[in-house]
Amino acid sequence: MFETLKNALGRQGWWPVSRDAATPAQARLEIVLGAVLTQNTAWENVRRALAALYRAELVDLAALDAIDEPHLAEIIRSSGTFRVKARRIKAFVRTVQDEFAGSLDALLGLPLPQARAALLRIHGVGPETADAILLYAGKHATFVIDAYTRRVLVRHQLATRRDGYDDLQARFHEEAPADLDVYREYHALIVELSKRHCRAKARCEGCPLEGFPHDPSA
Ligand code: SF4
Repeated sequence: MFETLKNALGRQGWWPVSRDAATPAQARLEIVLGAVLTQNTAWENVRRALAALYRAELVDLAALDAIDEPHLAEIIRSSGTFRVKARRIKAFVRTVQDEFAGSLDALLGLPLPQARAALLRIHGVGPETADAILLYAGKHATFVIDAYTRRVLVRHQLATRRDGYDDLQARFHEEAPADLDVYREYHALIVELSKRHCRAKARCEGCPLEGFPHDPSA
């Protein structure tokens, strides 16, 4: 399926870091912020919130630590549920400041199990957000399971609706090589597939995965 998607949809090159990121460190922080901001909203809203953060010179750990939460919430208003997301960003930054001496790299540079556990302890960071941060900002080969992935797997009888996050992730980890580029591309390809074809109402005709056994009503 990966090869079929890659050939049909081409290289996705994720994560889509903006041109505003001046340094690799700022790009990594932008990925973290994007992973929190994208929870339950469209990417265009995230893009606008990130642009507002850059205008306010807030894609910076110390600046995010200094700003008060209501003010931050106003700046990221376009991302939806902005007060919740401001609280989550502040919690993330506080953890990095308190536990990792202000170094995002120190957190992301931990071995995968420890880095994932540290992220999951932060308020508002669930497995999907943690794995997105680890995969795209931390260069850890851990697969991201999102609602799109679950839908494609269920429709192709590779999972059931009852399967949990860890079950689905374990399946990818068993079937696909632990390769950073493959995991990054595969997740991005599934997102693209789901936008184009595997939507709430499946558009199987012309879909790259049409040749694989599937049930679009599942
Ligand atoms: S063939 Fe149909 S069910 Fe399978 S991924 Fe494409 S749209 Fe979804």
